[in-house]
Amino acid sequence: MAELISGKVVSAKVREDIKIETAAFKKEYGTAPGLAVIMVGDNPASAVYVRNKHKACLEVGMTSYEIKFDADISEDELLNKIDELNADDNVDGILVQLPLPKTIDEQKVINRISPTKDVDAFHPQNVGKIMIGNYTFLPCTPAGIVELLNYYNVEIGGKKCVVIGRSNIVGKPMAHLLMERNGTVTVCHSRTKELKEYTKDADILVVAIGKAEFLTADMVKPGAVVIDVGINRRDDGTLAGDVKFDEVEKIASKITPVPGGVGPMTITMLLKNTLTAAKQHKNS
Ligand code: NDP
Repeated sequence: MAELISGKVVSAKVREDIKIETAAFKKEYGTAPGLAVIMVGDNPASAVYVRNKHKACLEVGMTSYEIKFDADISEDELLNKIDELNADDNVDGILVQLPLPKTIDEQKVINRISPTKDVDAFHPQNVGKIMIGNYTFLPCTPAGIVELLNYYNVEIGGKKCVVIGRSNIVGKPMAHLLMERNGTVTVCHSRTKELKEYTKDADILVVAIGKAEFLTADMVKPGAVVIDVGINRRDDGTLAGDVKFDEVEKIASKITPVPGGVGPMTITMLLKNTLTAAKQHKNS
């Protein structure tokens, strides 16, 4: 049976450190690091993520600003709000919860966030800095996965790593971070032919496609480390990952559960980036 890679356990430890550092920051500067989260519309999944981010901020002693707009807000109104937050000294990090309504150009909104407050690391300037290995922020989900692998002593160097999914927020940066840590990385996607040939060969398998229980045991090499990024809602309302956990845990050496795996780490890395941003703002 696979060892469980618990995002809950690792998150609790990292958040404890962030809490201590936040208290020290407050003592030094008389103010707490501040994170502004903008939500447009009432997507229920986004509402849960925004609520969790707000709660996590407060728990470590940071200030959280929740800004909600109706789905019919204009792009200009949203951009103006970002300008306002960019200029606000109390705000160190700005996050726009995605997806945005189709009427708004998502990339334009991301481009408007000051790169020094872009705690999601989605701004092209930050993406470019990551590519050349000279970054301030790492994207939260892939960074959280690297923390998990480190904590559970999973050696990446020289290992065959397969990432399924090539999104800008998970798949692509994940592949890059594994490559940077000397993994030999293959990226698969919906056009990959004979997917199983790749997945069966992987020592470390990261699945980020958004399809409930897609990865079955016959696609996994015995002893592989399996990281499940997927968050999918079943018809009965319960959560499922992209991995068929009950089957795969029997042959993997280590595996993340859903919930309680990658999810908590994503928020923890957001807190870490906010603290980094706050320190940089005070020292600039
Ligand atoms: P996207 O929809 O942006 O990307 C999905 C990727 O999966 C695409 O690259 C797509 O390929 C690929 N894909 C889809 N179907 C298949 C298939 N049958 N075989 C192989 N590849 C396939 O999703 P995200 O990257 O944003 O998110 C992925 C999942 O992770 C979602 O469930 C999301 O909810 C979850 N998530 C979880 C987070 C967490 O904190 N735990 C954070 C962010 C996301 P192609 O490019 O060819 O279309």
